[in-house]
Amino acid sequence: MDWFNRNQRSLPWRMNPSPWSILLSEILLQQTQMERGIEYHKRLYERFPTPSSMASSDVDDVLFLWQGAGYYSRARRLHALSQIVVADYGGKIPSTYDELLALPGIGPYTAAAVASMAFFHPVACVDGNVRRVMARQTNNEFPSVKDVQEYADLNLVREHPGDWNQAMMELGALVCRPRKPTCDVCPVRDTCKGMLRANELPRPRKQKKTTIELQCVLKVDAQGLPELIQRPDSGLFAGLWGPRIEEELDSKGLEYLGCIKHILSHRTMNVHVWKDVCEQGIDPNIVALSTLDRRILSLGGVFLNVPTE
Ligand code: SF4
Repeated sequence: MDWFNRNQRSLPWRMNPSPWSILLSEILLQQTQMERGIEYHKRLYERFPTPSSMASSDVDDVLFLWQGAGYYSRARRLHALSQIVVADYGGKIPSTYDELLALPGIGPYTAAAVASMAFFHPVACVDGNVRRVMARQTNNEFPSVKDVQEYADLNLVREHPGDWNQAMMELGALVCRPRKPTCDVCPVRDTCKGMLRANELPRPRKQKKTTIELQCVLKVDAQGLPELIQRPDSGLFAGLWGPRIEEELDSKGLEYLGCIKHILSHRTMNVHVWKDVCEQGIDPNIVALSTLDRRILSLGGVFLNVPTE
C-alpha cells in the first residue's frame, strides 16, 4: 500500500473517482491498452458524464465514439447498462457486488473492481496482473482460477479494498511485469518464492488461434464515397458500418487491391479486397466504423477524416 501511494499512475478516473467514471474505465480496459483506454475514457466521459446522459442517447452515438477501440459488443452492453441504471436505480450505479454483476457487460472482475474502488466494499479483484503476482509469489506454474481467487481473498486489506486491489494490479503492471520484472525494486520481494524464475511464471495458457480467409468487394461511387452496410446487432462488429465482407464471392473482372491481415485476440482474419463501382455511396465519416473497415477503405483510397493507424 505504501508503494502504491508513492508510485501509482495518475489516471483520469483516479483523480476524479465517480462510480460512473470508474465503471467506464473498467469496461474500456477489459480489452484495450491503457493509453488508448485513457483516450477513449476521455471522449466517452466528456460526451456522457452520467449514466442518464448515455441512456437518453442512441446506441449509435456510443458506437460512434467507440470506433477503433474494438470489441464493440462492450459499447452496446454499456448502453444497455446505462438504461437499466436509470430505470432500476434512479440513474445511480448500484453499489453491491451482486447488483453490479447482474448488469450487462459486467463480469466478476469488473463487479469486484467497481464495488471496491467506488464503494469500498471488501471484495478482491482478480485479473491477469493479480494472477501473475500470485503465481510468482507462491512459485505456482499453473494457478487455477480458484487458487488465484483464494490468494486474493486471503490477502485483501479489508479496510482499504479499493486501494489494495489497485495496488496489486499496479504492482503487476509496473513492477511484476510479464517480461523483465524489476525484482530489485519490488516492495514484496522478501516474500517472493518464485523470484529466481519469475520469467517462467505463470506458464502461458495454450490458446488456439484460427485464421479465416474472407473476401470483400469495396464499391465506390464517382465522388469517391463507398457503399456501406450496417452490420446486424449481433456477431462481429455488431451495429457498425462497413463494406460487405463474405466468405466467398465472385471476383471475376474486379481489380484486386490486396490482402489485409487483421489480428484479433482469438483469430486472424485475412481479408482479400477487390474494387468495384457503385451508383451512390455514403459519407464514411458520419458513421461508426471498425478499425478493420477503416483499413479496407484506406486501401481503396477512400478519404477518412481520421486516418487509419
Ligand atoms: S520479486 Fe519479482 S517476481 Fe516476485 S513479486 Fe516482486 S517483481 Fe514479481
